[in-house]
Amino acid sequence: MEAKLRELKTLLAEVNDLESAGAVLQWDQETYMPTGGAPARGRQMATLARLAHEKFTSPIIGKLLDQLRRHEESLPADSDDASLIRVTRRDYERAVKVPAEFVGKLSEHTAATYQAWTQARPANDFAAVRPLLEQTLDLRRQLADFFPGYEHIADPLIDYADFGMTAQTIRQVFGELRQELVPLVQSITAQPVADDACLRQHFPEQEQLAFGATVIKRFGYDFERGRQDKTHHPFMTKFSLGDVRITTRCREDDLGEALFSTLHEAGHALYEQGIRADFEATPLAGGTSSGVHESQSRTWENLVGRSRGFWEFFYPKLQVAFPEQLQRVSLDSFYRAINRVQRSLIRTDADEVTYNLHVMIRFDLELQLLEGQLAVKDLPAAWHARYQSDLGLCAPDDRDGVLQDVHWYGGVIGGNFQCYTLGNILSAQFYESATNARPEIEAEISAGKFEALHDWLKENIYQHGRKFTAAELVQQATGQAMTIAPYVRYLRRKYGELYRF
Ligand code: ZN
Repeated sequence: MEAKLRELKTLLAEVNDLESAGAVLQWDQETYMPTGGAPARGRQMATLARLAHEKFTSPIIGKLLDQLRRHEESLPADSDDASLIRVTRRDYERAVKVPAEFVGKLSEHTAATYQAWTQARPANDFAAVRPLLEQTLDLRRQLADFFPGYEHIADPLIDYADFGMTAQTIRQVFGELRQELVPLVQSITAQPVADDACLRQHFPEQEQLAFGATVIKRFGYDFERGRQDKTHHPFMTKFSLGDVRITTRCREDDLGEALFSTLHEAGHALYEQGIRADFEATPLAGGTSSGVHESQSRTWENLVGRSRGFWEFFYPKLQVAFPEQLQRVSLDSFYRAINRVQRSLIRTDADEVTYNLHVMIRFDLELQLLEGQLAVKDLPAAWHARYQSDLGLCAPDDRDGVLQDVHWYGGVIGGNFQCYTLGNILSAQFYESATNARPEIEAEISAGKFEALHDWLKENIYQHGRKFTAAELVQQATGQAMTIAPYVRYLRRKYGELYRF
């Protein structure tokens, strides 16, 4: 059995190597590649994706998994070997349903669409990407149909990202949260809008990037096992547990853009850098679900990075970095500015309170597209209608409307947007458990120290990689299933103080 397991691990490492090589090409495409490289790059990534898929779905792996079944059953479910076999089997059974040719096609199409979007968005030209988006929808529906027997067509797509969840369970959680959020947004936005002009002065890029790097080093992001570069739409990517990279974008007229996207992506990276080293190159070496992953980015971006305590330590340092801009701005004014609540058009710029309303709009529109209730040609109008009804706003164009997020133009319609709100909910649930277990966390944060929080997260979440499902991990780490209560408590406490209601 030991020999079979070794053989399985060797094959899985080769699959991982092909996938990681694909990730390097994608990182390059989104950072440094000249536009002339686009057509060949799409083909190259498609080839690697197809080879990885063929290798992973080869009958040898199926046979090894069969032969290892008895071994798996003889071990405790939470042992490393049993977990490796179980998670590999789950991935394998899903992967064999999808033909390699389809995987290559989807990958090539994704590269072409992404490239088109990088030009269509600044040009405000939805028509240029519309046929590609129609194909994406078609491909995503085909992908779902490789898993017949679903209740909702989005279910198999959601299952890829947030294993165990369905359109129905997410709709229910979103419905409950919406009931809490809408009155909260109303009571805050009935008051005068906080002034955030202090964030909208001129801040030179180099100083911004340097400040962000100082902060995430203190968080525990290891630059020996990662680096940061610039991109259109910030992301984190991993080539191995020793190379976990982040990207950001910078605006010299907006201090929040690079800073908070850096803290966000560093949160994702801390998760990946914190996975047990002996899981390297196996299916266990990754975050357990998109929702849990997002909970970590939101923890460091919001619960830590937008907290009063954090800025008690860092604001004097920020003032030293930008003396002319911030010398005369008090900590209180700055804290209010970075936590300004306002109905707005752009999801990634949205505050913590209105953010989830943006996600709910996208989630609903995706479901309608997949159900065939909404055609791609009608998407811009449907988008504007929902922003009008949910946020009382109308974007002046599609650039800040339906073209604003990369996801749909990155080959993904369905199964992705829910993770942002699940992440917000879980971030507060994990954080509450962490601060209960380690009461020194908040005092440490006010002193610019993050060991207690980082250690708790590593111990309870990061180290396990994909060994436990999201539901198991949440139960183990917090003693209960996912609940919106800690998140609602967090928002009420923080914004109740800020806006005095
Ligand atoms: Zn994220």
